[in-house]
Amino acid sequence: MSWTKIIGQERVKRLLQNSLRANRLAHAYLFYGAEGIGKDALALEFARAINCSSGASDACGSCPSCKKFETLQHPDVKLIFPLPVGKGEQQGDDPFAVLTEDQILTVREQVRIKAEDPYHKIEIAKANFIKINSIRGMKRESSMSRSEGGEKIFILFNAELMNNEASNSLLKILEEPLPDTVILLTTSAKESLLPTILSRCQTVQCDFLLEEDIFTALQERDGVENGQSRLAARLANGSYGLARLLTSADMAAQREEVVDFLRLSLSKQRLPMLQAVDELSSTYDRTALQRWLEVLQIWLREALLLQKTGNDTGLAWDQESLKRFVRNFPQANLIGALDLTNQAIAQIDKNGYLPLILINVSLGLRKNLTE
Ligand SMILES: [Zn+2]
Repeated sequence: MSWTKIIGQERVKRLLQNSLRANRLAHAYLFYGAEGIGKDALALEFARAINCSSGASDACGSCPSCKKFETLQHPDVKLIFPLPVGKGEQQGDDPFAVLTEDQILTVREQVRIKAEDPYHKIEIAKANFIKINSIRGMKRESSMSRSEGGEKIFILFNAELMNNEASNSLLKILEEPLPDTVILLTTSAKESLLPTILSRCQTVQCDFLLEEDIFTALQERDGVENGQSRLAARLANGSYGLARLLTSADMAAQREEVVDFLRLSLSKQRLPMLQAVDELSSTYDRTALQRWLEVLQIWLREALLLQKTGNDTGLAWDQESLKRFVRNFPQANLIGALDLTNQAIAQIDKNGYLPLILINVSLGLRKNLTE
């Protein structure tokens, strides 16, 4: 991994490289920005470059420090993230030692995956917040000698998940910076951190990714095929994390749901449609349902293009049903149908009643597409 392995974020990379070149490091940095844009990846690469013995602004990849970094087993780099609370865990306990054997294995496995893929989101069952014991350990850890003569670096992923105690404990550390120590925080919810923590960090705003960069990453890193990568990159709103989610198995199921919903809306039978509405509004929360409607919109736009030009972009997942639809309903008012879905997305924002919104979408689709 080096800066070139980071997706997009050119502005942020230059900023960090400049501060490495100028050899002017702050005690603490806060990487903030939307979910899934690569804040952890930036923090990890920054940490690696800080401790690389080459002293360059780009980690060399071959010095002892860079080698240890590869597996994230670097004795001077500590990762802090939410962990489950141990049975009978007391203040001052080692946050790992109190875990069960299974939990420790899970943590190790998650760190191993993170080392291979810095875009991986660490997930551990019952780990809901960053424990105060993880923060307290920083002081002790920092007093130990540096194995490669660099800095002691702590990286806190999802810093917004610190509870009050942990936040206050971190604040104390930031108020009296530990020597030869750099603290890197990442968060997608900057506003939920204590203002006093924010004011003691150098804040690094991370950017949304370009659709084209997400498209390339999906193809090259995840082996997602062309059409699906296009679709996911377009829907992902600048978030590689979201794009990956969209290309997952869940998403495939969602696409089928959209086609089924269209089919039910066009049929004359009301009961199956109402059942589908019931199912959808109990399965998805508001945001997820808006995304679901956006998937429906992709299908409608694709049908519109096919209807007007006879061409398709290959974005829709089921070209056969799309073509059949355009053949069977040549007069369909697809623009009206798209307007309708836009209204529904807006109504969800305004706290509208989800089943009613979906029923209106279904009836509206039928009206616009068949009359
Ligand atoms: Zn190196």
